[in-house]
Amino acid sequence: MSSDSLFADRAAVLATMHRKEQVMAPILETELGVRILLPENFDSDRFGTFTRDIKRPGDQQQTARIKAESAMELTGHSLAVANEGSFGPHPLMPYISCNRELAILVDRENDLEIVGQALSTATNYSHQQVTTVAEARSFADKIGFPQHGLVAMADPDARSQTEIFKGIDTEDRLIEVVNSMLAKFDRVHLETDMRAMYNPTRMQVIAQATQDLVKVAKQCCPQCQRPGFAVIRRRQGLPCSWCGLPTELTLADIYQCQKCNFSREVLFPDDRETADPGRCFYCNP
Ligand SMILES: [Zn+2]
Ligand SMILES: [Zn+2]
Repeated sequence: MSSDSLFADRAAVLATMHRKEQVMAPILETELGVRILLPENFDSDRFGTFTRDIKRPGDQQQTARIKAESAMELTGHSLAVANEGSFGPHPLMPYISCNRELAILVDRENDLEIVGQALSTATNYSHQQVTTVAEARSFADKIGFPQHGLVAMADPDARSQTEIFKGIDTEDRLIEVVNSMLAKFDRVHLETDMRAMYNPTRMQVIAQATQDLVKVAKQCCPQCQRPGFAVIRRRQGLPCSWCGLPTELTLADIYQCQKCNFSREVLFPDDRETADPGRCFYCNP
């Protein structure tokens, strides 16, 4: 069994209505041999929106899985792919924004779930309150408008957005929306539209997550040959290059098969065998 024989020539439903097939379909079709189909009438917005008007049903991976399952439900196919993105402060460098994309493949026929991911600081994720059209234009310039779209709303914290304008991607539309809102409110909250088709930068990170998904799908269990032999945990303890004491850096990746539970530890996954003394609690407390 390999990823080729499991997936080749099968239809895989891609759970999207935001044109993610533009980047995901070529990678999945070339690398896994699947035929990508788009479900008709698939409303991915009901699984949550970045503009917070609809809450996500679970964490990022659960939400991606729910999307894939609902696409299978809708179409009757047994193989589906979905993506879910999140934006926020970088986990290690909280002063920079980052974009984490997950790509998930769910195969009901073989009871298999494979996850790929990408973490990128290349994101225009941002927001600003503006009180004039000039301020709105200057924010738009900063975020790569009009190739990247904008969202405008009155109050970003309101539970239910009474007035929200998404997918603003022309100068005329931006001016029209900002003017009409400033006639009613003191200020307008502008934010980047993070939906894939309005955000080519995000689209690239979705492509990276899809590449990672394909890479994991091609890693087969050494014992039972099942695809998706993936890292389930990273073990800390890379020794300091001066004193040899364990640091918080990764010493080993632990892989495990979902089917037969075979597991393997791979030492030095980050291509280094010792840690910089700057990361050592003893040498650099
Ligand atoms: Zn196995
Ligand atoms: Zn040390």
